[in-house]
Amino acid sequence: AKSEGRGTYRFFEHKMGVQVRDRRILEHELRHAVARGEMHLVYQPQTQVETGEVIGFEVLLRWHHPERGAVSPAVFIPIAEESGAILQIGEWVLRQACRDAASWPNPLAVAVNVSAVQIHAPHFVQLVHEVLLQTGLKPDRLEIEITETALIRDPVRALSTLRQVKALGVHIAMDDFGTGYSSLSNLRSFPFDKIKIDPSFIRAVDTNEQTAAIVRSVLGLGRGLGLPVLAEGVETDAELRFLAAENCDAAQGYLMGRPAPIERFSQFTHGIQDE
Ligand code: C2E
Ligand code: CA
Ligand code: CA
Ligand code: CA
Repeated sequence: AKSEGRGTYRFFEHKMGVQVRDRRILEHELRHAVARGEMHLVYQPQTQVETGEVIGFEVLLRWHHPERGAVSPAVFIPIAEESGAILQIGEWVLRQACRDAASWPNPLAVAVNVSAVQIHAPHFVQLVHEVLLQTGLKPDRLEIEITETALIRDPVRALSTLRQVKALGVHIAMDDFGTGYSSLSNLRSFPFDKIKIDPSFIRAVDTNEQTAAIVRSVLGLGRGLGLPVLAEGVETDAELRFLAAENCDAAQGYLMGRPAPIERFSQFTHGIQDE
């Protein structure tokens, strides 16, 4: 209420001060987190909607802070991006993920999130090339996930980088489709191989007719462009049934599996070396 105004203001002011200081501490700690062994990877299965077969895994980064415990990537990734620490962390994720995936049976794929800072860094293509050679992972089993917002800072440079990555044989997925603001032209201008529909649409697909119409049209768009579509954040049978009825290609979400250490999925990934 209005009478609390002043006190509330002071409270937020105080809290904001702490947050700024907190951020600087986190920023510093992030620079050492990989070397200190505080980072680890979890994997989430991606399945074919029609058959339920696991086709790959998205790798998601986890930071176990010595005092704070688990820090959400939604909190630390933006800080790592701003400070530049994402370059070193992202390289570690890419290398570790490709190393893991190289031991999975063909053709299981690994999807790695790549942020704008990485895409615009001078040696990104060389890094991907090097990691593929070092790990022996076949390029077509690596998919990099990029959001539209990662492309807008320097679209010309982003396009050149993505073309070179694609020339290596690596696949490129547009992440969080529907949350950007110029999705359609981006789909035409950039060499994407897959569209990932944002969870905010999937959540309401079985309960909201407008949302269902939007998802149907994205699926039509994918068909028209020859791009497979993956629905993210699938949590219920009803959502999956909708996607199956509408011929969505692939799905990912708690219903099929929560992100977990790769050991959890050994029934899919064990044994056989690549080729
Ligand atoms: P994202 O790339 O969109 O990843 C999907 C997020 O949705 C993950 O959150 C995952 O745990 C969550 N999720 C998966 N299925 C479900 C579901 O059925 N329901 C709900 N409610 N959520 C689901 P997470 O792991 O917290 O990651 C958050 C974001 O942090 C990611 O969003 C991605 O943008 C970023 N991120 C994570 N790892 C990395 C990384 O290695 N590099 C970069 N650059 N970003 C990363
Ligand atoms: Ca992603
Ligand atoms: Ca996403
Ligand atoms: Ca729902």
